[in-house]
Amino acid sequence: MHLNRLLSPVAAVLLAAGSGGALAQTTSAADAPAVDIATLERIRDAAMSSDFAWQTLSNLADKVGPRLSGSAGAEAAVTQVSDAMKAAGLTVTLQPVKVPHWVRGEERAELVEYAGRPQGITQPLHLTALGGSSATPAKGLVAPVLIVHSVAELKTRAAEAKGRIVLISVAFDQNLADNGQSGQAYGQAGEPRFIGPAVAAGFGAAATLVRSVGGANYRLPHTGATKWEDGGKQIPAAALSAEDAMLIERLAAQGPVTMKLLLTPKTLPDADSHNVLADVPGRERPDEVVIVSGHLDSWDLGTGAMDDGMGVAAAMGAVQVLKSLGITPRRTVRAIAWMNEENGGRGGKAYFESVKDSIATQSAAIESDFGLAGPLGISGAISDAQMKLLAPVGMVLRGIGAGVQDTRGGEAGADIAPLQIAGVPGFAPLVDGRHYFDLHHTAADTLDKIDPQALRRQTAVLAVLAYYLAEMPQPLDRAPIEGR
Ligand SMILES: [Zn+2]
Repeated sequence: MHLNRLLSPVAAVLLAAGSGGALAQTTSAADAPAVDIATLERIRDAAMSSDFAWQTLSNLADKVGPRLSGSAGAEAAVTQVSDAMKAAGLTVTLQPVKVPHWVRGEERAELVEYAGRPQGITQPLHLTALGGSSATPAKGLVAPVLIVHSVAELKTRAAEAKGRIVLISVAFDQNLADNGQSGQAYGQAGEPRFIGPAVAAGFGAAATLVRSVGGANYRLPHTGATKWEDGGKQIPAAALSAEDAMLIERLAAQGPVTMKLLLTPKTLPDADSHNVLADVPGRERPDEVVIVSGHLDSWDLGTGAMDDGMGVAAAMGAVQVLKSLGITPRRTVRAIAWMNEENGGRGGKAYFESVKDSIATQSAAIESDFGLAGPLGISGAISDAQMKLLAPVGMVLRGIGAGVQDTRGGEAGADIAPLQIAGVPGFAPLVDGRHYFDLHHTAADTLDKIDPQALRRQTAVLAVLAYYLAEMPQPLDRAPIEGR
């Protein structure tokens, strides 16, 4: 399938011309981006020999650590990244964003009644509150457990939910992930986490638990956001380790199960925070912008090395490479470290509000937020015909094993989705997502999981693609996606 793309007319001309010269002519002059291949190779090679992104990531993950919106860590990260970008010579702007401020508290649970329970025995569980969860009473609550296997089933059993701890037990489909569909697997297993607690609250449930959304079972709970209805009831909500969800299912098959649950999170008033914007101003059309980005906030359990420290580090590394080489593209390349992707998306919305009246100035947007296994190339929410215009990017990235150019619809990143809906062509690195959800949103998202060489390759992918998009004589066609 990809072979066809790689042997597109543009690529064929490049093959004939060798890799050293400019892409001067193709079969279709109007479509021919006159971008110098040697420059693309210099950018790629500089990224592959740079440790800037790794240093940026190490500082974020090891020195700041968790960076949930509203936390001291999030603010330290804003300062750290903006200082690093200024020191690298970029033009830095802090864009104000009001963010939710939710703080985790104590979290404990145990099974206190079940068939065959030896006297004096309770079964401790491993769980963690979902972002936005409300608190139990200070002494915890005790309630029988109702198990369902989908939100649809919960709706059919609404009358049974009242006063109970509802466990929505949906296993992550690792088979899908193993076959290149990890996004689909995440969507399927993530729906109960995202909307289940609000549905259960509407039925009078005492609390909601979801089986953790993740592909590897290390008895680690995976947190994540849940969405409440505006003005709707909010209840305690947590993610249970997959093993403990399975334990409860086994015990429930033998008789009623009762749980004691204690969660003490707090929702504080919205806090002031920022997106960090770091520009390489364009030489001809500085008002036209190509965005390369990742999100700066992270869940509070781990240190956000994978989600999404590596995305921020690679995006910052991409503009640092251009700056260090003294390369000034036709348009502005703008690295953005988004705030609040995880539990509100306020950073993406704030940026969109700031450009929506001049949306034509936003030429393209790239977001890296899906790990960096591989990377294998680029993925664009654009047409196949438009992707052919990017053949030189594939040619150059093929040299580091990242030459695949994949087109797919939909959002390329949560923070750039508002831009994409408004027509801005969206891109993401194409990665191997098979194991992305193993440790996603867990305490185990730490720096040691990141391969420094893969981070260099990710940086090279972002830098080459961003430069190329910023240098094309004509921007790509608008490519609106449907809103969710
Ligand atoms: Zn993320």
